[in-house]
Amino acid sequence: MKSVATVTFFLSLPFIVEASEMVKLKGYLGERLDAMIEKSVVRTDVDYLTVQFSADADTRQWWQTEFWGKWMHSSVPYASYVRSPRLNASIERSVSDIISYQRPSGYIGNYKDEARCDRGWDVWGMKYTMMGLMFYSDGAKDPEKKEKALDACCKLCDYVIGELGPNGRRKRNIWHTGSWSGMASCSILEPVVWLYRRTKEQKYLSFASYLVKCMTEEPDGPRLVDLALKKIPFAKRTGIGHNFTPGKDWDYLGKCGRAKAYEMMSCYQGLLEYAEEVKGCDNLREAALLTAKAIVKDEINLAGGATSLEQWHEGAKKQHLPYKHQQETCVTTTWMRFCQKLLEVTDDPQWADQIERSFYNAYLASLEADGSEFAAYTPLTGSRYHGHHHCRMHASCCDANGPRGFLCFLYDFFRVKNDVATFNFYSSALAKGKLSNGKNVSFEMYSLYPRNGYVRIVSRTALAGSFPMRLRIPAWCNSATVKLNGVSAGAAKGGTYFTIPSREWTHGDVVEIKFSMEVVSHIVDKHVAFTYGPILLARDSRFGDGDIAEVMRCEFEDKGIVKSFTPVRTTGDDFWMLFSAVLPLGSHDENPEGQLPTAVTFCDYASAGNTWNRKDYYRTWFPLEQNDLF
Ligand SMILES: [Zn+2]
Repeated sequence: MKSVATVTFFLSLPFIVEASEMVKLKGYLGERLDAMIEKSVVRTDVDYLTVQFSADADTRQWWQTEFWGKWMHSSVPYASYVRSPRLNASIERSVSDIISYQRPSGYIGNYKDEARCDRGWDVWGMKYTMMGLMFYSDGAKDPEKKEKALDACCKLCDYVIGELGPNGRRKRNIWHTGSWSGMASCSILEPVVWLYRRTKEQKYLSFASYLVKCMTEEPDGPRLVDLALKKIPFAKRTGIGHNFTPGKDWDYLGKCGRAKAYEMMSCYQGLLEYAEEVKGCDNLREAALLTAKAIVKDEINLAGGATSLEQWHEGAKKQHLPYKHQQETCVTTTWMRFCQKLLEVTDDPQWADQIERSFYNAYLASLEADGSEFAAYTPLTGSRYHGHHHCRMHASCCDANGPRGFLCFLYDFFRVKNDVATFNFYSSALAKGKLSNGKNVSFEMYSLYPRNGYVRIVSRTALAGSFPMRLRIPAWCNSATVKLNGVSAGAAKGGTYFTIPSREWTHGDVVEIKFSMEVVSHIVDKHVAFTYGPILLARDSRFGDGDIAEVMRCEFEDKGIVKSFTPVRTTGDDFWMLFSAVLPLGSHDENPEGQLPTAVTFCDYASAGNTWNRKDYYRTWFPLEQNDLF
């Protein structure tokens, strides 16, 4: 029987599952995942990532030390997914290198002693190194290697506590280190809680409690609870409680900013982890939940992405405008991770809805067609292109974060928890899991979803015992029907789980779902955009069907169903989905010819601009004709 600690560990780090319990994606998504693993994760020059730790460097307060831990987060489960000897060899070599770079003090990083644990990204880098060591330790089969990596992680955490804990050698407040009112450094809470779960050593829980206090009670700290409970918009939290003259420079934002999305969500993720370990933390959970709901309402766009210049900016109502550095991929990935944690904590399918939207749109759009690279920013209108090169490295934070995002979709696709089988996502796939009686369950899914709304699930399970199956019905879906072995199992309601009651599943049982899929128009500030189910639609200059910025006449309503779109077959691999639409384009309707609607082509947002060639241009929001009289 598993110990309590082991069970908690699996709940807290769900990615470390046996290959036999993972989902194997097929079809379009399977091809994209396989390409990404092969061309991005396996081919990463990991020696280039680890050599950054080899010596104290002139770091200029940079963040070269975040890359390895992020790569480990995805490479450990993907090594299991594709059984790649090359990836396994890279993982083993890199861990051995990282441990060899650990200083006698426990430090693993590349800052000179006088610059450590101060402004800059040193603590942030140590956070990712801790995560990387734990991901390796959790996945390692060899007990000696497992223990060695965990031991290195403990020494590193002991170093941070010794320098920046309540009685730290640096006599420095941790929220005055790092950037963004201390949010970058304080987000180390997440791996500190993970370390406590693995070791049960009280000193790690005490440090975690200290971090929570720093994140919530200090007037010039992150203030993640009181500002959330007061419902102060994220974009307006900067500067509160600080004694600096407001400015718009990076130095001011680094000290007093609180709108940096990636760092903020990373902190809330840590608070949710902490609240699982310590009783009486309802205020932390409530603040995280209120924050996530406010993100959905005020920040997330129709592609499931957010931010300009990596910061919250009340972007939901500005998504039709060309804001600078729109929709950072680190934000998309971190948002999906945050939603994944919320789904686990609340069991509310709205968080799976959010993952679905972000994954199909902002996330897949950021992944280059051949799977080799992630864009840093993916504007809603424009062209796609390579991300920046950071810290004198040939890599960007987003390229390192990207592969972690696919894991959110993969892990929550199918879960067996408390002997309930749940499908959150739909695609051709083979899904496996295990019941508490030790029996394996397995289902094969055949579906082109979300190209169409039909899903067929065939049982490959027999003699496993009885259990219910839950199916997520997306909130955007107006109607859905479910059949079991050809007989209606009832109508399903959008925004809920539909449950097939507990039964003995046999080989060949068939579950069929039909989701209604419609094109819906959305209006923001005299602009219109269109979605099909969870998919945002775009016009692309490659179709050569006129000016893609041409105005549309005002014949749409917000959340209205638009009947004039027809799905059409794609002509090759360039586009995932194509639609032919007959729309009221142009403003020359005084002319009988101009009154006629125009047939134009739309594709899914992820496929738009996927050549990464700047001569190819796409658009998702279209100006509506203005009229002050009627
Ligand atoms: Zn980034």
